[in-house]
Amino acid sequence: MICVPIVATTNRQARADMKKAAAIADLVELRLDYLEEPPEVEMLLDDRPLPVIVTNRPVREGGLWEEDETRRVAHLREAISLGAEYVDIEHDAVGRLRDRLGTRVIISYHNWGETPDDLHEIARMLVGAGGDIIKIATLAKRVCDNFRLCQLASTTGVATIVVGMGPCGTPSRILAGKFGSYMTFGALSREFASAPGQITASQLVNVYNYRSINKDTRVYGLIGMPVGHSVSPRMHNAAYRACSINAVYVPFEVDDFDAFTRGCRSLEPAGFSVTIPHKEAAFRLATQVDPVSRDIGAINTLRLNDDHTWQGTNTDCRAAVDSVKHAMGASSLSGMRVLLLGAGGAGRALAYGFASEGAAVTIANRTNERSQALAAEVGCNVVKWADRTEADYDILANATSLGMYPAVDVTPYPREALRPGRMVFDTVYNPRLTRLLEEARAEDCPVVDGLEMLVRQAAGQFSFWFDREAPLEVMRRAAVAGLDEFA
Ligand code: NAP
Repeated sequence: MICVPIVATTNRQARADMKKAAAIADLVELRLDYLEEPPEVEMLLDDRPLPVIVTNRPVREGGLWEEDETRRVAHLREAISLGAEYVDIEHDAVGRLRDRLGTRVIISYHNWGETPDDLHEIARMLVGAGGDIIKIATLAKRVCDNFRLCQLASTTGVATIVVGMGPCGTPSRILAGKFGSYMTFGALSREFASAPGQITASQLVNVYNYRSINKDTRVYGLIGMPVGHSVSPRMHNAAYRACSINAVYVPFEVDDFDAFTRGCRSLEPAGFSVTIPHKEAAFRLATQVDPVSRDIGAINTLRLNDDHTWQGTNTDCRAAVDSVKHAMGASSLSGMRVLLLGAGGAGRALAYGFASEGAAVTIANRTNERSQALAAEVGCNVVKWADRTEADYDILANATSLGMYPAVDVTPYPREALRPGRMVFDTVYNPRLTRLLEEARAEDCPVVDGLEMLVRQAAGQFSFWFDREAPLEVMRRAAVAGLDEFA
């Protein structure tokens, strides 16, 4: 079930928001403590569009109710007498409720400082306090806290709600349905989140396919830092929906890669995309890697084998090459001169990719030693960064981060040096039309944007995991929608 918290400051607005929530939610949580006027409980519950949890959270548990405890609980009693489906009360105040009539009582525990080690003890304490349902909401300081919360949900013997609060806790909200949490919380809209890290109900349904998640759903995800603005969840989940695959793709904000890969086993993960800064660590973890990815020394995709070993591949390389070939309508890049700007992670993938196609690659990188080292590995040429406009090319490929949001006014290559009619490829995808591509177009150069590579590397991951062709157009539309939303 998806519950939308109603955090309006007036009774009138709260009623209006309950109506809006009915379009997406299964129930609402009426947060009386957010009201800046006396709660009109009877008016709020009258003719309500959805079942309701009535909550009046005190400041000591992270809520906004500052007035006296007797009045606080009196509002909950009133909700019970009016037939509210649920009331939520803190574990230390449940004794004050007295008669519950037909209302189900959620006994809750909040910890805004951490996800403590003794979650099972806390659950036992809440069960002992006599609730119909228990709720444990704790700050997820590390992504691994999600794993303990998720595991807890099905082991308490009573209906249990678990919530990892904070940006690191988002996976617990998405995976609630898989692990048997009684419900998850999703905001009515971004500005109405009642807890940090809370995503919207609309994202739960439309991005994460929450309604289809069950205990058999296979878990995939993105490991990186940061991952908040990634469009990968949109692309992959859209592909699962289009192909009727029972899987979900979750963003994991990971600082400690090794701790994550040890701890994540409880999620029974099937595979991960890997992004900055963990691509080299992922490479070291994988016991099976294809030859090109081994040469690159970094992977962006992991798959968990049946014997619990990890298999890895790098889909950036093929994606970059295919993007350019597709745009040029070429079956081969053999003999083409590629001027590659950048020798970082993307630069390495492109250098190996273009070289493996038989292209003549010249690398220019701000730090010359880096381009020299890469060129020596790949077997290609180098030009100093300051001299990059002197090298002739058929394809100019930017694999530096120059031009990327927010520094969108920057370009890695001066407009006056662009050669009309020559292909310009930018790996930067946010913004989609970088300054480099805008100027290239103005100079009559055909262009390929980083979104094309982004979609193709995701499609490569899909194929690696599911051994079937990816729905490229579905993934492209999802990526564009995600970037448009960001813009
Ligand atoms: P990275 O490993 O950190 O490399 C950054 C590159 O940019 C290095 O070559 C660096 O040169 C250069 N650079 C940074 N600041 C510079 C400056 N002020 N002047 C000149 N050069 C500068 O990052 P990465 O993973 O390779 O990513 C690079 C870009 O590729 C990013 O924009 C990323 O979004 C994009 N990318 C796109 C896709 C896709 O699917 N479209 C996939 C992967 C990456 P130094 O060596 O001198 O530091």
